[in-house]
Amino acid sequence: MHLERRVLITGGAGFLGSHLAERLLSDGYQVLCVDNFYTGARRNIEHLLSHPHFELLRHDITHPLFVEVDEIYNLACPASPIHYQRDPVQTTKTSVLGAINMLGLAKRLRAKVFQASTSEIYGDPTVHPQPETYWGNVNTIGPRSCYDEGKRCAETLFFDYWRQHKLQIKVARIFNTYGPRTHPNDGRVVSSFIVQALLNRDITVFGRGEQTRSFCYVDDLVDGFVRLMDSSADVTGPINLGNPGEFTILELAKLIIDFTGSRSKIVHQPLPQDDPKQRRPDISRAQETLGWAPKVPLREGLKKTIPYFETLLSQGLVQRMIAV
Ligand code: NAD
Ligand code: UDP
Repeated sequence: MHLERRVLITGGAGFLGSHLAERLLSDGYQVLCVDNFYTGARRNIEHLLSHPHFELLRHDITHPLFVEVDEIYNLACPASPIHYQRDPVQTTKTSVLGAINMLGLAKRLRAKVFQASTSEIYGDPTVHPQPETYWGNVNTIGPRSCYDEGKRCAETLFFDYWRQHKLQIKVARIFNTYGPRTHPNDGRVVSSFIVQALLNRDITVFGRGEQTRSFCYVDDLVDGFVRLMDSSADVTGPINLGNPGEFTILELAKLIIDFTGSRSKIVHQPLPQDDPKQRRPDISRAQETLGWAPKVPLREGLKKTIPYFETLLSQGLVQRMIAV
């Protein structure tokens, strides 16, 4: 048990943050969840509110935060294109000012600090699969840049605090992750397709659907987070965390139609600007350094995720969230 360890999770009411909070509470940590509820929801952590070692604080990390903790997981940031493009200036501020504030807090406390970075820092990659040594192919002025460049700048800040202030940093580059509690209306492909399929609506495949993604189930990812945080002080990352199984978007659509028994038809819509053509993590570094590899294949993960959306639907919650 780690009861004497106090952990701060920024973005703790979001999809990944809520799963991480559950995991750390069950490992015996005291968890302080900080969130401004921009994309997160109280519903995601409602079941934790009565836990004696869980605390919730509404706060925007673009402003300084004064708390006392031993470890910080910095997850706060809208993660889906629809959400991060809604207020792009705020997205960059959350990544950059949020990183500065969390690094400042870590420096005062001499706390270990973890950054939820992203495969988006590779942009539309020209190297496949992507190893951590690849520097990326990123547009600085496009609609995705607020997120991609904000996350790149955050990585720069983390490594400068490490070099300059000898902070213990842990930088994870997360590839597409899915599971229960992804927002049904955030436009991310797995949740969008499941909701469309359950409502027997058209499945909207962008472009020809030949672009690829690699989908990691949330429990696998959270296990990678904890292993990285617990790794020896010389392990800073960046380290790719994702599932190397690679699928075209069309394959994903067909799989979801099959698993839901849906009557939905596949329709094609224009490909968004700067949409990466392929993405698959090279996870050799995570395997060698952390002894980590994902265990849940896509088919199994989808079968664990679909019932979550069925429940939301039966409670009328999906309809309210997507305003049908
Ligand atoms: P999410 O939108 O569900 O969670 C993000 C949380 O951060 C939300 O609860 C939101 O309210 C909160 N937040 C946003 N701005 C904030 C601010 N200024 N102050 C305080 N809280 C703020 O997204 P998620 O999928 O859980 O992503 C979590 C982190 O992981 C993000 O940093 C994201 O960039 C990163 N990531 C996620 C994925 C993925 O596939 N889910 C992939 C790569 C990286
Ligand atoms: N996508 C799609 N239909 C949708 C939503 C997404 O075809 O309704 C595609 C999107 O163009 C991209 C892929 O699915 O190629 C993954 O999109 P997502 O927004 O989930 O993640 P990201 O592009 O950030 O990897």
